Amino acid sequence: MANFRFRQIIQRSFFLFAGLCWTLCFTSCATHPETGVRKTSTTFTCVVLDAGHGGHDSGARSRKGLLEKDITLDVVRRLAPKLRAAGFRTVLTRSSDVFIPLDRRVEISEREHSAVFLSVHFNDGGRRQVAGMESYYFSGESRRFAQRLVGALADITGASNRGSREARFRVLRCNLNPAVLVECGYLSSRQETKLLEQPIYREKIATALAEAIVKQRGGPITPAGQQPVIPQNAASLSVGSHPASTLSLATLARALRMQENARFNFPPGA
Ligand SMILES: [Zn+2]
Repeated sequence: MANFRFRQIIQRSFFLFAGLCWTLCFTSCATHPETGVRKTSTTFTCVVLDAGHGGHDSGARSRKGLLEKDITLDVVRRLAPKLRAAGFRTVLTRSSDVFIPLDRRVEISEREHSAVFLSVHFNDGGRRQVAGMESYYFSGESRRFAQRLVGALADITGASNRGSREARFRVLRCNLNPAVLVECGYLSSRQETKLLEQPIYREKIATALAEAIVKQRGGPITPAGQQPVIPQNAASLSVGSHPASTLSLATLARALRMQENARFNFPPGA
């Protein structure tokens, strides 16, 4: 009898889980049909940053209790000022520990007409041996961007590049803007979790994402009719007598990396 009940509970849990997955991945998009992604993957001026999970939804959890929702927010908070310094507008789907439904995240993205959407996550592979970076996209318009992001993550952190794949995640499939979801490491890997616990490693992740985004756009942007955008923290980043506005992409990338040493703690307000 106990055995039968146990089997019933397992069966019920399985159907509940399957139902949840179906809802998240395959139900139709609330706001629009799955067509007509905006062609902004190389012309965008705004980046919508989506820190995965939040509130009662903690996401993955390491054995020592590091929560995915906390480090996604930390990485996004480190990433946003780097992008603003390169001339981009940033919009955060959440800036504190709150739960935001997936459709709401998509709505926030769609209000921006010259944007790309980046959702930041960390993974749980069940096995300790699995580690590394991955990225996911749905539209063809987002494919190259996804490859670039995972490549930069692997290059700068030294983690393995597990590639980019097409996926039907709701925040990707229902998004009118080019959209990528990055998995920046595995909380089930003891080795990777040790790194993720260190602010300097999360800073590296933010730097990698910033570099890839700036590169995807072809360099820091200059709004029409305005002076070239000078990165706010670039005064000390000038090379020789060259003003910061003439910094090449490579120099900007180097400068962004230099900031890592100055930031060992959570940014103010984190
Ligand atoms: Zn996640």
